[in-house]
Amino acid sequence: MLLVPQCGECRTPVLDDAGRELTVEARLLPAELRDHLTAVGWDVTPGDPKVNRGPSDPIGEDRLSCPACMATRRAAVVAAERRLTRDLARPRVRHVGMADRLGDGWTLTQREGDDDIRRWLVEHQGQVRGAVNRYRRTTGGLSTGWEAHRLVGTEFVRVDAIGACQHRPGSSFLWSARDLAAWGVAARPAYDTPRPEWATRAPRKASTR
Ligand SMILES: [Zn+2]
Repeated sequence: MLLVPQCGECRTPVLDDAGRELTVEARLLPAELRDHLTAVGWDVTPGDPKVNRGPSDPIGEDRLSCPACMATRRAAVVAAERRLTRDLARPRVRHVGMADRLGDGWTLTQREGDDDIRRWLVEHQGQVRGAVNRYRRTTGGLSTGWEAHRLVGTEFVRVDAIGACQHRPGSSFLWSARDLAAWGVAARPAYDTPRPEWATRAPRKASTR
């Protein structure tokens, strides 16, 4: 059986030097072909021979992306980065120093409009590391617990509330207080970490907002 390796996204086939569709005998490509494709701008994710059950089995096959699809993806990443950079660069209207709770250089800041859902950016030495916020319930009003997200690349990734700091015991969805949510972003504590010492005292006024 002859197979034509192709882009997994747009189905563009791999061509040989003469411009004809290249044929191979197995979906796991020979190493030289992988190297050649990589050299001419394809992205090659090698398949897994442990789960591949034969030359034509699509499970565990090599996965290919053509140069055009790679360029499209790169452009989307660049656009997302640009959007995010612009958004995060908006001027701050409020600042709260967090050195006593999170360590040197940590602050919470708000931009215009952030206060609508009590969103605070969690920053370290001027670099945004994440954000915490209440969220708007479908029934109206804001949640009483706090969501926490860590900035990873261009994505805000949820930080689950650890056992000792959950808004509702047994639910990792929300943190019980703003500063604890920010601590979750900054310190990334393990699930069984006890509450930080400052949070065992009565919460200060600012943290109820
Ligand atoms: Zn493609």
